[in-house]
Amino acid sequence: MSKRSIPDNPEIDNSGADKREPTPSGELPEVLPGVLPGALYIVATPIGNLSDISDRARSILATVDLIAAEDTRHSAKLLHHFSIKTPIISLHDFNEADRSRKLISKLSGGDSIALISDAGTPLISDPGYLLVKQARAAGLTIIPIPGPCAAITALSAAGLATDRFIFEGFPPAKSGARLTGFRKLRSETRTLIFYESNHRILASLADMATVFGDRQAVIAREMTKRFETIKSDKLSGLIQWIEQDEKQKLGEFVVILAGADSAMLQAAEIEQAQVLLNKFLVEISPGLSLSQAVSLVVELTGLKKNQVYDMALKIGKEIEQGKD
Ligand code: SAM
Repeated sequence: MSKRSIPDNPEIDNSGADKREPTPSGELPEVLPGVLPGALYIVATPIGNLSDISDRARSILATVDLIAAEDTRHSAKLLHHFSIKTPIISLHDFNEADRSRKLISKLSGGDSIALISDAGTPLISDPGYLLVKQARAAGLTIIPIPGPCAAITALSAAGLATDRFIFEGFPPAKSGARLTGFRKLRSETRTLIFYESNHRILASLADMATVFGDRQAVIAREMTKRFETIKSDKLSGLIQWIEQDEKQKLGEFVVILAGADSAMLQAAEIEQAQVLLNKFLVEISPGLSLSQAVSLVVELTGLKKNQVYDMALKIGKEIEQGKD
C-alpha cells in the first residue's frame, strides 16, 4: 500500500458508480484533494503560463507516489517551481512499451502514479496512449485531471465554427505526404485543427493553400506566453504576413482551418454528376440504360438516387429532343 495515498479519502471511483454522498440540495460535494492507491492520474499541465496549472493538478502531483514524465529534465523545472518533490521517471515514445509494463506493475501493487507531458494534456500528440490502454485493459482506475490543451485553447479563440471539429495533430513532415494527407481532407466540412512546428509552418500553410484553396484560417502562436499572437485571415494573407515578419515564424503553432463549405461542395458534386451522366448516356455508352447510368453515378458521387435520377431524366429528354 502506498505511503502517500489517503485511502479513506472518497475522492473518485470512476470504475462505475460515484459513491460520494449528495448534499441536501442534491449536488455532489466538491472533490477533495488526495489520491487513490493504485490509480493512474492523467494530469494536464500548462502550455506556457505556469499560472494555468489547476489546484487539483498541483495537489495530485504533490501527493502521488511517482510522476511519469515525457522529459524528466523539462518537467523537473515545473515541479521545482511548485516545490513538488515527488520522484519522477521518464516515459517517452522510445521507452513507452517497456516503461508502461513497469508502471502497470507498480500500479497493481498499490502505487499511485501521475502521467504528465512536457506541456498540455498527455496523449494529445504526446506519449501515454500505450500506458493508458494497458492500464484500462488491466482494470486499473484511470483519473483524468483536466487542464490546458493547445488545440482546444486555440479553437476557443479562433472565431471559426466550433460545433463540429476534427483534430489532425502534426501534418507529415515531407511535402509529398503532407499534400496527400491534406487531399484526403479536402471535402471535410468540420473545422480542422493542426499542430505545426516553426520549421514547417510556412511550407505547411503553402501546401494547405494548394489543396484547400484560399480558405479562412487562424494561426495561434505562443499561446499563454509573452509573444502570444492569434491571427485570422485567408491562407494567402497568413502566408504573406509571416513572410513579411520573420518573428512570426518563431515558437509553437496551432493552425485552425475552416471546413469545406457544404453548399459549394454540393454544387461541385452536382456538377460532377452531370459530367458523368453525360459521359455515360451520351458519349461512352449510348446503349447503357438510364437506371444503370444512375446507379453508377450514385456510387461514384455519393449523391442521393432521386436527385441523380431527376438529372438523368433531364439529360434523357435532351437526347430524345436532339434526335427529332
Ligand atoms: N499535449 C499538448 C497539448 O495538449 O496541446 C501538445 C503537445 S505537442 C508535442 C506540441 C505542439 O502543440 C506544438 O508543436 C504546437 O503545435 C502545440 N502547442 C503547444 N503549446 C503551444 C502554445 N503555447 N501555443 C501554440 N501552440 C502550442
